[in-house]
Amino acid sequence: MLQPLGRRVYLVPGAGRARFPYANGLYVRGDVRVLIDAGAGPEALGAVRREGVDVVINTHYHIDHVRGSHLLAPAPVWAHRLDAPAIQDRAAYLRLTGLERLGPAVYGPVLESLGFKEAPVCRQLSGGELLDFGGVSARVIHAPGHTPGHLALLFEGEGILFSADVDLTRFGPWYGNPASDIGAFLCSIDLLAGLRARVVVTGHSGPLPASAEAFRAYAARVEERDRRILEFLGRGRTLEELVQARLIYRRFPEPYCRLFERVMVEKHLARLARAGMVRLEGGRWRRAGAPSPRRRPPAGRDAGGG
Ligand SMILES: [Zn+2]
Repeated sequence: MLQPLGRRVYLVPGAGRARFPYANGLYVRGDVRVLIDAGAGPEALGAVRREGVDVVINTHYHIDHVRGSHLLAPAPVWAHRLDAPAIQDRAAYLRLTGLERLGPAVYGPVLESLGFKEAPVCRQLSGGELLDFGGVSARVIHAPGHTPGHLALLFEGEGILFSADVDLTRFGPWYGNPASDIGAFLCSIDLLAGLRARVVVTGHSGPLPASAEAFRAYAARVEERDRRILEFLGRGRTLEELVQARLIYRRFPEPYCRLFERVMVEKHLARLARAGMVRLEGGRWRRAGAPSPRRRPPAGRDAGGG
């Protein structure tokens, strides 16, 4: 169940090929025994519990990374200070994820089915800290964008990077929460690519060789989405039309997927507007250079060459 990655560091493989609602974790067998992320599923977490866990680190507040923390009680939970509120408090979770926008009739059953539980965060982590577990240590890397307090952990002595939801999947970077940030995400990808780890494990993929090319291809998905959105705008599209076109998600198996598509499209439009490439006019998004029907010059105006 636990797969050795290096001295004292083990992969805890997520159930269902580590796809949502499951995620990979790492188990660290130092003098202090640590589980990094608790979303691998009950079977894997049962094995980890039998090994013994003194501390649980949550790389961020998403439910597929925190949902099993209570199974490791009384092990205290550590997380970044910016993500701690959404781990500790249901209202903050709903606000930071944007799920509150769906209303309680929708988000209530979602949280119920996913097994959301509040957990007190006993220690707030900061980027740059070196966590000495006794015989093995990890550097805390603040890698925001996916969430504000998203963390990666670098085992410098082992050359192992746990990059959490900088997840190097074919889907590409995910920034579907109001609290997510595309620009910060791209900076985080660059930061992690420059760490020169030997192997990378992510929340939903790996272990993989930690090549710069893997990070570059992952980051390139953001510009591909920009291009897809620009092409779709044509003579102008409403936000609703953009969401309905499923340019990022492709399909909406759950109601919250549609919400996340909307948030991600909104973030692309804001980024493209800042770059002067799109504008909002009469409720429709247009490419900045595209003619506006209401301002189109009268027919024949250009015919006389004057
Ligand atoms: Zn996540």
